[in-house]
Amino acid sequence: MDCLFCKIAAGEIPSKKVYEDEQVYAFYDIEPQAPVHVLLIPKTHIASAAEITAENSAVVAHIFEVAAQIAKELGLDDGFRIVSNCGESAGQTVKHLHFHLMGGRTFAWPAG
Ligand code: AMP
Ligand code: ZN
Repeated sequence: MDCLFCKIAAGEIPSKKVYEDEQVYAFYDIEPQAPVHVLLIPKTHIASAAEITAENSAVVAHIFEVAAQIAKELGLDDGFRIVSNCGESAGQTVKHLHFHLMGGRTFAWPAG
């Protein structure tokens, strides 16, 4: 499958790794929108948050555990934001489920 994040998770395209285990890969976003901007992805291909089901949702829970751990390790003690853009109008550009973990600055709400 021609999927950028599948290739990154498989190590076929280089990335700046933050964390990896059997299910999850985390790496720095190439165009950071905050002082800390990490992407967390399942190693299995899930196209977007709209494709999460009872069968594949365990990895999503695991991603959030890993995100909390990374936030601690990177010193995001003042807070952080986790975002998943789903679909065109939300601005999803890579069609492999990913969670943006961002911190190191304040964030407006609601997000634009
Ligand atoms: P989204 O626009 O929500 O689908 O998020 C996709 C994110 O992937 C964007 O923040 C991009 O900057 C990031 N991105 C695209 N290509 C790469 C890459 N090769 N390595 C790291 N991050 C990437
Ligand atoms: Zn993929």
